[in-house]
Amino acid sequence: MATIGWIGLGHMGGPMTANLIKAGHEVRGFDLDEGAMASAAENGVVTTAGITEAIDGADVVFTMLPKGDHARAVYLGEGGILESVATDVLLVDSSTIDIESAQALHEAAAAHGNRFVDAPVSGGISGAEAGTLTFMVGGSNDAVQDAGIYLEPMAGNVIPTGGPTTGQAAKICNNLMLFINLASTSEGAVLADRLGLDRKVFWDIASVSSGDSWALRTWYPLPGVVPTAASNNDFAPTFTTELAHKDINLALSAARQTNTPLVLAEQVSAMFATLMQDGKQGLDCSAIVQLVDGTHQGSAGDNRTSTIGGAA
Ligand code: NAD
Repeated sequence: MATIGWIGLGHMGGPMTANLIKAGHEVRGFDLDEGAMASAAENGVVTTAGITEAIDGADVVFTMLPKGDHARAVYLGEGGILESVATDVLLVDSSTIDIESAQALHEAAAAHGNRFVDAPVSGGISGAEAGTLTFMVGGSNDAVQDAGIYLEPMAGNVIPTGGPTTGQAAKICNNLMLFINLASTSEGAVLADRLGLDRKVFWDIASVSSGDSWALRTWYPLPGVVPTAASNNDFAPTFTTELAHKDINLALSAARQTNTPLVLAEQVSAMFATLMQDGKQGLDCSAIVQLVDGTHQGSAGDNRTSTIGGAA
């Protein structure tokens, strides 16, 4: 069994490390947030005073951080991973980050003598808890293969994507589709309500019909239908609006670089931006439904029913 260093014990890192421990590995972890550290310790993570202590003696180091800036700081910053990690340690970043940051981490790790893979995940907190995440893994063939041994207890699928940064490319495109699906599910759900359909009956139909999606089955944005959805819990976050806004903007940034028109993504990004401007960045991203059902109170006290279009 391996010794695993883990930086970032939040919504995803917490349950992911719990599954590594259940599989018999030792996990030494660090997070800036004391609450995250306390929950991880309850699951058996040996929490440490900092990054250096967490990665000392590790066979492999994982990071599960919010954004590219955090990942750059944790790998490249003062007291960061590359300052003290042994060169035979495999490095795995499972955060969802921009391709430029992922490229910078690949290059810095290689210059230090370490193998590095970008290995973002899909499946949400429920997939992290169940150990059924999909990992999309980019890097050299041997590093991707070796990473698979450690990913297995957390994964339903481990899919090699090709060379460095291709895991992030796959993740960015996947989440572009997810958040458009979430927005379309919000519109369908609210309209179905207003047409007098029973919420559960409509969900039963859509989930076995062409309106089906992961967002519909897992994050249904109106309460009383999918028990684990954040809509039943005042939109307490499973995936924050801030992270959703980050992800759709990663797609928009990649689209600009490739001259790809993403009309729907622009609209959905604007909807998340509206929630953020009104202080809702910490709510679950399925709160996007508030812009459709009229429960969103804007900063000017307005009660927007839609950010889309204009008239009609
Ligand atoms: P989170 O904010 O809950 O967890 C990130 C953790 O990183 C936080 O606890 C934070 O304190 C910690 N952190 C930040 N900077 C740090 C530093 N310098 N040192 C140590 N710890 C630091 O986020 P999350 O929901 O767990 O998501 C993590 C990543 O996974 C994101 O990139 C997200 O886009 C991606 N992701 C999330 C989900 C989901 O459903 N939540 C699903 C798939 C992918």
